[in-house]
Amino acid sequence: MTIINPATEEIIQEVKEDTEATVHEKYQQVKGGQSSWAARPVEERVGIIAKFYDALDAEKETLATTLTAETGKPLQQSYNELNGARARIKFFLDNSVRWLAEEWVTTEGATREKIVYEPLGVIANISAWNYPYLVGVNVFIPALIGGNGVMYKPSEYSTLTGLHIQRLLYRSGVPEAIFQVVIGRGAAGEWLLQLPLDGYFFTGSYRTGRYIAEKVASKLVPCQLELGGKDPLYVMDDVEDIDKVAAAALEGVVYNNGQSCCAVERIYVQEGVYDAFVASYVEQMKKMVVGDPMAAGTDIGALTRPGQLDFLLDQVKDAVAKGGKLLYGGQKVNRKGYFIEPAVVVGVDHGMKLMTEESFGPVVGIQKVSSDKEAAQLMADTEYGLTAAVYSKSFDRAEQVMKELNTGTVYWNCCDRVSAGLPWSGRKHSGLGMTLSYQGIRAFVQPKAYHIRP
Ligand code: NAD
Repeated sequence: MTIINPATEEIIQEVKEDTEATVHEKYQQVKGGQSSWAARPVEERVGIIAKFYDALDAEKETLATTLTAETGKPLQQSYNELNGARARIKFFLDNSVRWLAEEWVTTEGATREKIVYEPLGVIANISAWNYPYLVGVNVFIPALIGGNGVMYKPSEYSTLTGLHIQRLLYRSGVPEAIFQVVIGRGAAGEWLLQLPLDGYFFTGSYRTGRYIAEKVASKLVPCQLELGGKDPLYVMDDVEDIDKVAAAALEGVVYNNGQSCCAVERIYVQEGVYDAFVASYVEQMKKMVVGDPMAAGTDIGALTRPGQLDFLLDQVKDAVAKGGKLLYGGQKVNRKGYFIEPAVVVGVDHGMKLMTEESFGPVVGIQKVSSDKEAAQLMADTEYGLTAAVYSKSFDRAEQVMKELNTGTVYWNCCDRVSAGLPWSGRKHSGLGMTLSYQGIRAFVQPKAYHIRP
């Protein structure tokens, strides 16, 4: 498989793809090693992952440079991702022993009762490229700490990062017979679906996620899906610092080149502050530096996948053809690599793809609304249910809107953020099940109920 740098379109490296036979061999290896890994005390597994936590820091220059080279994200954001991933690992290091400990329900009387948490077995972690460290550690870290074997399939757009992860896990003490990387595209993922695995943990698009859920349904094993979004941000007319709100919204749109599952994908602004918000948004957007992701000072690097450029240009074109007004950007940048100018379109409505279809790029539509009720209706008008943000001086007023929305996450005066202590979950087409928080520790184990009559 040829690994291409999306910012230069040059070949970085050739990597050997797995075949059906090698995927089988790897599975046999992990299957064989899992029970002895599970038999180790959880503290020991936590100790090994603590070494991985240190290794990510010790090698951060190499890891960040590789990540930027294969995904096109600005180098500083690769460092930020590594720091963020370490913060999540720290959460698992600090909390797993407590949440995996056996629980006594009844310690007196004729029958004593307790719950013991056992690993699922060997699980598949089929992953995305946009934040390979962050979305990866949500799964393989608690899975390993929980005593599972892991078949980890990085996206074909973050293969080199996947290989770094494997190398550093092995060096930290994770046995080869417990963690195997599967290299390849969709077909390699498909071979994992055919194996008799004990759980499927997928991060990626709705289309692939639904396909995987259907394909593994008859196995009756856990299947968790972390999928896409069309996340709205609503600005109420009582906000005090419009420049600050516009800056936060802009960052939510363009961070990671707009390729975040919880990126701000559509903006609604109440009429009283609409003109000021749009003016400030455009003003700040003009200052964004689009260019070489390795260079300091770059805000927006290259899109990761070549096809995404035309996809985004088409969304902008569709919005303009249906009456939207393109205020800035939205053109291919005239240089090698998959670069697009960030774009903002006003006069938009839900008849346009830009307001309904996941963009996954630094483009956005801003729609004027007259009331909280209208905003809530528009925010809820989507197949997705990942996150939603409300900016207002009043928590009570914001909460009225937040309560109505069928999303896994809501934000008041912030957006596009994930916390290790809170469950990360999507509703509707945004997913099934959850990672992070204590629930994301328990997601990788199964309770066994003990009835004990001494
Ligand atoms: P994708 O669905 O194209 O690919 C995801 C993974 O599935 C890749 O590893 C791919 O090789 C594999 N795959 C493809 N076809 C397969 C098949 N038939 N069987 C098994 N595996 C197969 O998604 P992507 O482009 O890598 O990721 C972008 C999407 O992920 C966006 O929609 C984004 O919103 C979503 N995402 C969601 C979250 C979240 O936490 N909710 C986080 C990151 C990304």
